[in-house]
Amino acid sequence: MKITLKPVGDVADEIMNELRGRVNGIFNCPVEIRESFNDLAYAYNPERKQYLSSKLIASLKTLAREGNEKVIGITDVDLYVPRLNFVFGEADTISGTAIVSLCRLRQEYYGLALDENLFLERATKEIVHELGHTFGLGHCSNVKCVMHFSNSLADTDYKKENFCPKCCLKIAPLL
Ligand SMILES: [Zn+2]
Ligand SMILES: [Zn+2]
Repeated sequence: MKITLKPVGDVADEIMNELRGRVNGIFNCPVEIRESFNDLAYAYNPERKQYLSSKLIASLKTLAREGNEKVIGITDVDLYVPRLNFVFGEADTISGTAIVSLCRLRQEYYGLALDENLFLERATKEIVHELGHTFGLGHCSNVKCVMHFSNSLADTDYKKENFCPKCCLKIAPLL
């Protein structure tokens, strides 16, 4: 098994490298960074000023990949799906593909002072959560588990960046 992180649009190298290290610390398998695509215009909704996450996942699915590879796109743009104001991320379990937006994970987005470590912790949790879905895990009732559903950033901040013992038992044989 291996995990590939793909910047979708512009994402700073330092952020990608930092996230690679953190994700590698959770999953006991190789984690690589690979280029993807930069032109996101086709997924942009000018009325909402957001990008349709399922369209970006569909593009990630078309990129060459290996059989036992989970792919997660990481983007700075704000994502949505119809009927929701926004999403932190989305996963497609069947193809083993997911995407996460960094946009709303930054304190600056809410007019607060920059907090780089908090931002990286949130991003790690969202990435590990969506990757958990690509491994077939559903949402977990344990509020401290990374697979707990985050309705808001408060939920994300409350949970940990790793799997609870129950989820660990499910994921360990798949790595
Ligand atoms: Zn989820
Ligand atoms: Zn759990």
